[in-house]
Amino acid sequence: MAVTFEILHKDIAGRIGKLKAGERQIKTPALLPVVNPHLQIIPPAEMKKMGVEGIITNAYIFSKSKEFREQAETRGLHDVLGFDGLIMTDSGSFQMMVYGGVDITNEETLGFQKKIGSDIWVPLDIPTLPDEPREDVISQMDITWERMKQAKEIFGKDAPLACPVQGAVFGDLRKKAGERAAELGYTYCPIGAVVPLMEAYRYRELVDVIIDAKKGLSPGACVHLFGAGHPSMFALAAACGCDVFDSAAYALYAKDGRYITPSGTLHLDEMTELPCACPVCRSHTAEELKKSPDRQKLLAQHNLAVTLAEISRVRAAIAEGTLFELVDERCRAHPKLLDGYRRFLERMPEIAKFDCSSKRRFFYRGSESCLRPEVSRYHEMVSRIELSSDVLIAAGGPVPSRFAEVAEFKPPFGPIPYELAETWPAGPAEVPTWDEEMVAYGIKGLKMLLAENPKTHVTISTTARWEETFRREFPEADVFI
Ligand SMILES: [Zn+2]
Repeated sequence: MAVTFEILHKDIAGRIGKLKAGERQIKTPALLPVVNPHLQIIPPAEMKKMGVEGIITNAYIFSKSKEFREQAETRGLHDVLGFDGLIMTDSGSFQMMVYGGVDITNEETLGFQKKIGSDIWVPLDIPTLPDEPREDVISQMDITWERMKQAKEIFGKDAPLACPVQGAVFGDLRKKAGERAAELGYTYCPIGAVVPLMEAYRYRELVDVIIDAKKGLSPGACVHLFGAGHPSMFALAAACGCDVFDSAAYALYAKDGRYITPSGTLHLDEMTELPCACPVCRSHTAEELKKSPDRQKLLAQHNLAVTLAEISRVRAAIAEGTLFELVDERCRAHPKLLDGYRRFLERMPEIAKFDCSSKRRFFYRGSESCLRPEVSRYHEMVSRIELSSDVLIAAGGPVPSRFAEVAEFKPPFGPIPYELAETWPAGPAEVPTWDEEMVAYGIKGLKMLLAENPKTHVTISTTARWEETFRREFPEADVFI
């Protein structure tokens, strides 16, 4: 019955995992499309054929529906929705908060979710909006905590319960909520009430919220980012350690005539081409799709296909050790995403402890690459190397044969002594023509190496472009071109 999560591969804080709830199992990162029983624009059976392994639906809608309540109670959710994969139910607390009062108790919603055969149940938490005052956030978190304890007491420690992590935009509170979830033994933890941050493109704060929550959670917990459905941010969120996403965006956007791409959203009415490989886009022209009587459904199918393809791409990137490149690429699509990416890089020292990738290739893609953990780790490693008494640093200039020891200078890493020439990451790294930023990081590495080798006489061979820089930074060294 219990929810279990097994981590198979890691890259940065991203993971590929196996999430099991009862007899059902899905691979993560995963997208759970949101299914509203009243508006099944794409029936769940059809989603399954598109590769969907799990869906999420709202228990509150079922409990309030004349049409569906009894059916779900007697036949079970899987039969009613025609979907035999994993079905998670949300208590609907977020909707209740946004659209009106709560008229159901924690015990009632969980009892209902159990009765209709849901695979993962969500207790009635209190979703705290990002800009609530701190005192209110704390008191609401305390109520949520009581309900999480109550859920375990009533339904047992092995019940397939999720534990939402709240705390608004207060880092210490998100962390505390994560710690409480870990303390109560929860293994499935959605990060809650972040939709308003995503709707307002507050990605910088979103990155903080995820990293702070992760700091409190058990490292083995499966983390669900509630309501994150646009594919442009999956790579960033996965790199911060999110494993599951859910989304109604495929359907909501289709209703508004919006066409999702991995880097943003377009308006179908303004499009002249359908730049996508999905069956809908390959069997229609833009004009045909605009005029089709099935336009909304076709657009939803495209939107879902693109979203699922991006989830596959994120999984592939984690498996290959190229998640950094994917994050870098996606986050350049929008200035606010770039802002989120920069925040992610700023917090890299905290994230790097989750990072165990040793095979990752390093492609230099601009100044952000200097902040990757490979660079700072290399700097620490290189400073442990012992140099001989006389060394040439080959920074782009000629290499005379009179030097017994030569170390190539390769920014942003810096010096590559003979011992490290073949080793990952600096040896095989791909770097373009040098720029100021990367040279500055390389110099930092060289300074760290020389600080540990004060007796070594250093000669630097470079080009006219960098001569001044090296003379200025290393007044003790002989610099020539
Ligand atoms: Zn398409």
